[in-house]
Amino acid sequence: MKVTVLVGGVGGARFLQGVKAAAGPGDAIRAVVNVGDDIWLHGLRVCPDLDTCMYTLGEGIDPERGWGRAKETWSVREELEAYGADPTWFGLGDRDVATHLVRTRMLRAGYPLSQVTAALCRRWAPGVDLIPASDDRIETHVVVDTADDPPQRKAIHFQEWWVRHRAALPAHSFASVGRDQATACPDALAAVADADVVLVAPSNPVVSVHTVVDVPGMRPALSAAPGKVVGVSPIVGGAPVRGMADACLSAIGVDTSAEAVGRHYGARAEGGLLDGWLVYTSDAGVTVPGVEVREVPLMMTDPDTTAAMVRAAYELAGVRGAQRSRTIDGV
Ligand code: GDP
Ligand code: CA
Repeated sequence: MKVTVLVGGVGGARFLQGVKAAAGPGDAIRAVVNVGDDIWLHGLRVCPDLDTCMYTLGEGIDPERGWGRAKETWSVREELEAYGADPTWFGLGDRDVATHLVRTRMLRAGYPLSQVTAALCRRWAPGVDLIPASDDRIETHVVVDTADDPPQRKAIHFQEWWVRHRAALPAHSFASVGRDQATACPDALAAVADADVVLVAPSNPVVSVHTVVDVPGMRPALSAAPGKVVGVSPIVGGAPVRGMADACLSAIGVDTSAEAVGRHYGARAEGGLLDGWLVYTSDAGVTVPGVEVREVPLMMTDPDTTAAMVRAAYELAGVRGAQRSRTIDGV
């Protein structure tokens, strides 16, 4: 079976662990990863969501933080701070810097991000093809009012809003800088076009899922995809399970609820994204016109628990789950 998953960072990476745990022999798993968080820092190209997926699946992640390398040290950051070299708010760890050095060197030599990612993944062997949504530079910026007196309205990079300001500056809107000149990565389009099922991870609906889906070429590919598209809600009981997705949703006028996010994604039959939508067991009675909704446990406490979510998505999509594949292979 060919499974393609649309993902952001931490939520996406944990979901992919479950997709791997639910896989039968011979299954191909491909992830189309958000690049809207990507940023140039100190001359280095940093791709937070790609790296979170790569380190998590390659067992190099710091499990407590959920991002960055395990056993990280911070000498480079301290030295940069001693120089007063801005920005100082982004945590570039020493081990992590090596990844960005290799990536930047390859990009400067002319390799597209998708090939650079594949090269980095040769070390980490994530067991999933990690495909950037685009090889082009697309960066999410956030329109905010600064804390100055009087406040200034300006657009700042998503990372500055998220990491430096902890999403506390009210966002007026989001802009995808570079999107209009960008195209989807051909491998991402192919991964959607020949998937038996497409899963939408419980990633941030605005700055992860939307930024992937909105890359030119992705929407037509998703609407023509032969496999069913099933999404998983990152919102449980009216709040994100982790993080600040509510600040993003309120900026685009969508309530922080599984129903509102499902309706925002919309039915594929009506120009939206979804055929199926998994919501948490306590979010009973959610309806999304044109979309089959099921209530299942949605807490990604460990890969096996997450695998049960993935099997529920397969069942909803009408494709075989790992259980059946094992039986077939065991015959
Ligand atoms: P980021 O790029 O690191 O912010 O990560 P993502 O965009 O991939 O995922 C962030 C989303 O994951 C948040 O909105 C969380 O609500 C969601 N999330 C995190 N853990 C869980 C979980 O255990 N279950 C569900 N359903 N969602 C989760
Ligand atoms: Ca992210």
